[in-house]
Amino acid sequence: MPMRLRRALYPADWETIAGAIKTAAGWRCEQCGHPHEPAAGYTLTVHHIDGNPGNNAPENLVALCQRCHLGLHGKKCWVGQVMFEFFKPRWLLQHERSALHKSEDQ
Ligand SMILES: [Zn+2]
Ligand SMILES: [Zn+2]
Repeated sequence: MPMRLRRALYPADWETIAGAIKTAAGWRCEQCGHPHEPAAGYTLTVHHIDGNPGNNAPENLVALCQRCHLGLHGKKCWVGQVMFEFFKPRWLLQHERSALHKSEDQ
């Protein structure tokens, strides 16, 4: 999908949503724990766990530094909505647990 089309899927308040996720993560990468430090190449970004930019539920979002984020996308563990068959980082397990609890509460 061209970048322009993907961009269109982001909600207008994406910056606000992304900011809240980064704040909740303490402005640290949830993968490697490195703090947000753009000058050192560790700009904090927000990743969609299911790969769908239209799904902005908090349990679908994770704060990652640009290095981990690029590494993640470069690993090509994504097969449609199925991801990380052999690589489940700690933050993903936490997100899965919180998503589980959420569905239990409903
Ligand atoms: Zn990182
Ligand atoms: Zn991503």
